[in-house]
Amino acid sequence: MNLKEKIRVIQDFPEKGISFKDITPLLQDKNAFKKSIDCMKKWSENLQADIVVGPEARGFIFATALAYALNVGFVPVRKPGKLPGQVISAEYSLEYGKNILEIHKDAIQPGQKVVIVDDLLATGGTLLTTARLIERLGGQVVGIFFLIELSELKGRETLKEYNVKSLITY
Ligand code: IMP
Repeated sequence: MNLKEKIRVIQDFPEKGISFKDITPLLQDKNAFKKSIDCMKKWSENLQADIVVGPEARGFIFATALAYALNVGFVPVRKPGKLPGQVISAEYSLEYGKNILEIHKDAIQPGQKVVIVDDLLATGGTLLTTARLIERLGGQVVGIFFLIELSELKGRETLKEYNVKSLITY
């Protein structure tokens, strides 16, 4: 089965000029969703991950499913003000403006091996910031997995120090 066929491209969403990759048809298809998680599980072999981290919001979908498949826990990384406990934050730049991400201070134990999963790699800013938050807590990022990679935006270069894998490339 070709997973790319399950991605619906919607022009001019959420703004004019953006070609949005809609993952909902893939999620709706039990075989496509299962295949995506099974591939990520395969990539995780030999990494001995202790925990899977996913950034809000679509990262939660793949990261929780992978955590279940690997029989490890899940940690959310969220936008500011959403996590109730003590957090650490990091700010990063977007094309227009800035974003902040947060993680609970006690979410990662020093030395834990961490896999991060998100739906899509664009510039890599979201995932680099997520990886740095994990490292500040003493975690070791052993893999960064994506469903989709937009290769033109060169996110792989931003994440060059990491083990990056993606299932679908545009
Ligand atoms: P980056 O930080 O530039 O790599 O952007 C990645 C983030 O933007 C991910 O968390 C995605 O969920 C989101 N994103 C950007 N473009 C798209 C898209 O076309 N479809 C779905 N999500 C997108």
